[in-house]
Amino acid sequence: RYHQAIKENRHLYNILQELRGNIRVFCRIRPIFKFEAKSCIEYIGNDGSLMVFDPCKSQNTRKIFQFNKVFGPATTQGEVYKETQSLIRSVMDGYNVCIFAYGQTGAGKTYTMCGSSNGSYIISYFDLLINYSSTLEIMNCSGNGGLSIPNASIRGVQSTADVLNLMILGEKNRAFSSTAMNHRSSRSHSVLTIHVHGKDISGNTIRSCLHLVDLAGSERVDKSEVTGDQLKEAQHINKSLSCLGDVITALAQKNSHIPYRNSKLTQLLQNSLGGNAKMLMFIHPESDSHGETISTLKFAQRASTVELGAPHQNKESSEIRNLKEQIDNLKKALMIKE
Ligand code: ADP
Ligand code: MG
Repeated sequence: RYHQAIKENRHLYNILQELRGNIRVFCRIRPIFKFEAKSCIEYIGNDGSLMVFDPCKSQNTRKIFQFNKVFGPATTQGEVYKETQSLIRSVMDGYNVCIFAYGQTGAGKTYTMCGSSNGSYIISYFDLLINYSSTLEIMNCSGNGGLSIPNASIRGVQSTADVLNLMILGEKNRAFSSTAMNHRSSRSHSVLTIHVHGKDISGNTIRSCLHLVDLAGSERVDKSEVTGDQLKEAQHINKSLSCLGDVITALAQKNSHIPYRNSKLTQLLQNSLGGNAKMLMFIHPESDSHGETISTLKFAQRASTVELGAPHQNKESSEIRNLKEQIDNLKKALMIKE
């Protein structure tokens, strides 16, 4: 009866289908700017494949990568959103969802996560999480096995405008500093979490969250020519990214120990990474740096092999509760008979 009830609810059924399986990886390739060298992407297939080559080498360096979806340079923000819409909406049905933007500085992570549909920036984020700054403590929540950041700002919102206003306010808090890679390079990871608490029309209680994670640039530190404090910061950023890589490798290999505790980033996202939620990753191979593109694509390919467990719906339904009670009663009755 439980399965029948789910099947009858077509909407819920579609969401469950959407949430099953591996981490889904979408790859977005931004347009090449006039001042940039030639593209290192040779071919984009409708089936989610793309071919990368090194334009500076004479020998054949072509490599094919396969993802769930590849968005070419002409793709609009609206088209990207459309692909993720049902996943994002599933947050309202009680599922936790985590969306990452991974890739080197300048590849278009922030544009994808925050750019408006007409191409201008509208928003940024309001808290920073970098490994060496310990201003935000991550604590275990008692009872539910989750994590919390007591000093992170949490505000109630009533409308989309409220969310956008908070994001604009938060832009001031985000650390931008110049590097050789990109003068607006963000030196930090940013995690925006939208908590959803509410009741659906049947009176079921829903508690879920959507993490939007705009990661710091994945490029090697030596390439960005930073020194001093910036170098220290970059090394810590790279450390937490490599911790994320280690967690993804351990999940992909189905290891018994998953090293979540090695960085704040992986600690915070533990529930999302470990199968209680669904993730999407956007990868942005930059046109003129073939080496970084290959390493980004390899990271993404590894992530796409991570099998997530059945997603948990954070919803307490009176109907399901009643059915469970009936099952318990029947079991007890059977035991008495035996
Ligand atoms: P990242 O956050 O990965 O460092 P940004 O999002 O800041 O990169 O993008 C770098 C530059 O490229 C910005 O000037 C941005 O406006 C531009 N850009 C990124 N993606 C696109 C796109 N899909 N279409 C047009 N311009 C883009
Ligand atoms: Mg950025």
